[in-house]
This record gives sequence, structure tokens and C-alpha cells, in this order.
Amino acid sequence: TRRSSDLYPSKIELIHYIFVVVTVPVMAYLGGQIAGMRNRLKAQKAELAVALERIQEMAMRDELTGLINRRHGLQVLQEYKTLLKRNDLQVWVAMIDLDHFKRINDTWGHGVGDEVLQGFAKQSTQVLRSADVVVRWGGEEFLIVMLEDSGVNPNAGVERLRQHLSDHSISRSVPDLRVGFSAGLARCLATETIETTIDRADAALYQAKNLGRNQSVMA
Ligand code: GH3
Ligand code: MG
Ligand code: MG
Repeated sequence: TRRSSDLYPSKIELIHYIFVVVTVPVMAYLGGQIAGMRNRLKAQKAELAVALERIQEMAMRDELTGLINRRHGLQVLQEYKTLLKRNDLQVWVAMIDLDHFKRINDTWGHGVGDEVLQGFAKQSTQVLRSADVVVRWGGEEFLIVMLEDSGVNPNAGVERLRQHLSDHSISRSVPDLRVGFSAGLARCLATETIETTIDRADAALYQAKNLGRNQSVMA
């Protein structure tokens, strides 16, 4: 038999040895570096995702009340409307305007007015169902987007809220203060635009004001 030194001449063996001695630690080192980079990237990505979520959250919420703002409210409405096509559900909107709100500001000050808006936001989200979306439409106007089974009275939740507001305090500073609201309700028809539906709700709200306030009118 041939000796192993013939099969593996010592020069080549030395080269192999050096190769192994040099490359293994380098590879191990690089592997560690890459893993570290990957972890850092992962962490950065997670940070970015959190920041993005916060920015989106800020962009969709009203600062004073924490409610969804008008722009995002319209997006929600659009999404609810696409549900219409697939389900037996109806989408309704209730345009709500607090009654004689200017009087509250004039009598108790703007700070109490703000408390009332915050109180309305809190109580309405508590009293209505979780699928009902309360939107701060602007000023003392709110839009409620509701999903209903066909045949269910869409005004039921609105009246529950009205009752709740007449029974509960809405301002810490003026505990006896009560606020009423007028509402116009309209069903979203598949054949019309969201803007048209909202216009109809607005017209019904205007009627509710003319009929003496603190009541709902169906468009
Ligand atoms: P109506 O029953 O006809 O709706 O009467 P109103 O007094 O509620 O209606 P009007 O439109 O005359 O007054 C709305 C007031 O809401 C005027 C405005 O100063 C006040 N307002 C709008 N946004 C805010 C807000 O963020 N904070 C406070 N405190 N007041 C606001
Ligand atoms: Mg108004
Ligand atoms: Mg008002």
C-alpha cells in the first residue's frame, strides 16, 4: 500500500490546513455579523411598523375626542358599503348635531363645551354596539355608521343614546348639565354615492331641528 504522505503531499496538506484555519473563523465571524445585521434590521422594521401605526392612528383620529375623524369615517363607510354586496345587511348613517351647543359655550365657557364633546364621544361609544362607528364629523356634529340586519329599526341605538344622555352627567365641571341632539337617518343605497346618502341624512337632520330638536327623522 502507498503511504498517506504520497496521497496527501505535505505542502498541499499545509495549504488545506491554512485554508481551514483561516476560513472557518472568518466564516463564523461573517455569519455572526450577518445575523447581527439581520436582527438589527428586524428591530428597525418593527420600530418602523410601530411608528407607522402611530402616524396612521394620529391621522385617523380627532384630537379632542379620540373619535375617528371625517376622512377616515368616509373610508369606514366605503368599506361597510362593500359588505352590503356580500351580505343581507343594511348600512345606515345617522347625522347627529348637538342641540343649542353654542349656548353651552356661551354659558359655561369653551372648556365645558369641550368636556361635553368628549363626554358625548365616550358615552356614545359605550352605549352603541361595537360595530357602530362614531365619527367626529366636525364641530358638534357626529356621524354614526351602523350595520343592521334588514327589518331592524336603525333608530333603536340612537334612541338608546338619547335616553342615556338624558340620564347621565356629561360634564365633570357642570354635573347637572344635560345635552340633547337632533338626528337624521338615511340608509345607504347601493345605487347612490356615499355623498348622496349623507346629503339625505343632513336634510333629515335639518327637519329634526325644525320639528323642535331632540329627535330623529328618517330620510
Ligand atoms: P342648533 O341646535 O341649531 O344646532 O344650535 P347650536 O348652538 O348647536 O348650533 P351652532 O351651529 O349655532 O353652534 C355650534 C357651536 O359649536 C359653535 C361653535 O363655536 C361650537 N364648536 C364647534 N367646535 C367646537 C369645539 O371643538 N369645542 C367647543 N367648545 N365648541 C365648538
Ligand atoms: Mg352644527
Ligand atoms: Mg348644534
